[in-house]
Amino acid sequence: MKTKKILKVAAILLAAILLGVCLVITFANDPLIPTWDNIFVSLGLKEGAPGEEDDFIVFLDVDQGDGALIVSNGQTALIDGGEDEFEQRTYGKIRGYNVTDLDLIVASHIHSDHIAALPFLMERLKTGNIIIDNSKNRTEGDIKSLNKILGLCEDKGTKVFSPVRATVINVGDFELTVLGFYPELSGENNHSIFTVAKIGETKVLFTGDAENGAEKKILNDGINVDCDILKVGHHGSKTSSSEQFLSAATPDYAVISCGENNKYSHPNDEILTRLKNVGAEILRTDLMGDIVFTFNGEKTGYKTEK
Ligand SMILES: [Zn+2]
Repeated sequence: MKTKKILKVAAILLAAILLGVCLVITFANDPLIPTWDNIFVSLGLKEGAPGEEDDFIVFLDVDQGDGALIVSNGQTALIDGGEDEFEQRTYGKIRGYNVTDLDLIVASHIHSDHIAALPFLMERLKTGNIIIDNSKNRTEGDIKSLNKILGLCEDKGTKVFSPVRATVINVGDFELTVLGFYPELSGENNHSIFTVAKIGETKVLFTGDAENGAEKKILNDGINVDCDILKVGHHGSKTSSSEQFLSAATPDYAVISCGENNKYSHPNDEILTRLKNVGAEILRTDLMGDIVFTFNGEKTGYKTEK
């Protein structure tokens, strides 16, 4: 064989090997194989990636849905996980933040845009505990995913807890509290669990898809919903974020988790105005990708993926 021909064969072989490696990275879904996000983070190419020492919360861009990851001192929690349509991407994102285990999952309520990806994630990320409304005879919501989740909990030894108000769980330096849960109200959205993550004096409030009914209930119960960062209820829909609720919450940052050009026209313009009127800076996953807040001492700062 002539040298030129040998070089040509070697080049083709090398290209094939490289292509193979790229395909493995893209489709492997194995914790031992790095994701593209892992690679970009280690090369310093990915913006917004927090350091190992950081306490942080990422509002994951899970397209049309909710998913927030809390990381502190090697402990982790995930509040919702988004649709199954995006489960692979969401898994890649979580691994991209160097998370392999979840100490806690909170399923705010059982609509698919919050829980359908959880079975896929639980198969791959060792999960210690889950807070989910597992009451029997449910008729509304994504029952199929609920059953899959409960089945996985049994198989894998994940402890299941029904939401109980005032439950406090520590996730590293974060203190996560179940603020409110109103299963007696009508509509699955209003069954969303209100949780607050507190670190130092900073409070991050998660409301799932709670609508005006649940917002009214939590205010009438005299519960303090004041926060610094608010995960805006129901993707910025008009059914949530009543003036009374926002006046009580007074967030500095309002995070809206929704898909680009989603069919529901989330977020609603009137709600955006209301959020501005209470002085909140609006951050949106549809426009910014992942939104990462880091909490180091006195300062709270954020970076965005896009
Ligand atoms: Zn939702």
